[in-house]
Amino acid sequence: MPPSPPAAADRIFRSEEELARMPASARIRYRLQDARCRHHANDNIAAFVREGELDELKAEVQARVQELLHALVIDTEGDHNTQGTAERLARMYIDEVFRGRYQPMPAVTEFPNAERLNELMIVGPITVRSACSHHLCPIVGRVWIGLLPNEHSNLIGLSKYARICDWVMSRPQIQEEAVMMLANELQQRVRPDGLAIVMEADHFCMHWRGVKDNASAMVNSVMRGAFLKDASLRREFLSLLSRKGQD
Ligand SMILES: [Zn+2]
Repeated sequence: MPPSPPAAADRIFRSEEELARMPASARIRYRLQDARCRHHANDNIAAFVREGELDELKAEVQARVQELLHALVIDTEGDHNTQGTAERLARMYIDEVFRGRYQPMPAVTEFPNAERLNELMIVGPITVRSACSHHLCPIVGRVWIGLLPNEHSNLIGLSKYARICDWVMSRPQIQEEAVMMLANELQQRVRPDGLAIVMEADHFCMHWRGVKDNASAMVNSVMRGAFLKDASLRREFLSLLSRKGQD
């Protein structure tokens, strides 16, 4: 008998009934793997989560955090301070600080550049709240976005930049990857001639642990299109940004 093709062989088919019996995290992971979809800490997986499954995930995370506290030899029954910690942490991760993984991209209306704006536009500072993928420690900082639209660019409302930024940042992140992800989202939607992003952030894992260095701000930038080619445009953006940073 000829061997079956590798694609069919390495795919474990599971029926809906079988999936229903699995924990929500295993079900979602199955769909992701089936679609060969990357699911790193800073990837959005909303398209693979079905209705009601976030509540199931929260219950699962709560049970695991309870085990973590147990492994840390914390008496959560006797200690009234930690009685609700597992539940609070599960809610905080799924609904708040990592919601950018589980919630779909916020609705953004794009409108054509009717006025044919082609001047440098700066949005920011936008407050950034994120967490590092390495320690799940907070990252708090600011982002500035520079755009050079052309007549074919789609413009989006000012508040939408902050919403897209928040969606990308509320995941466990690596600052260098976070600015690239934000740049990709904006590039796709706005299609400007030039796009620049600067992020300056404080990494709490540097304060709280390790070197306990208080000078732990990290600055990253992405320059695309006109900002790469045109040094004077880049200078204009950076000088406006440093002036804005002083208020
Ligand atoms: Zn860290």
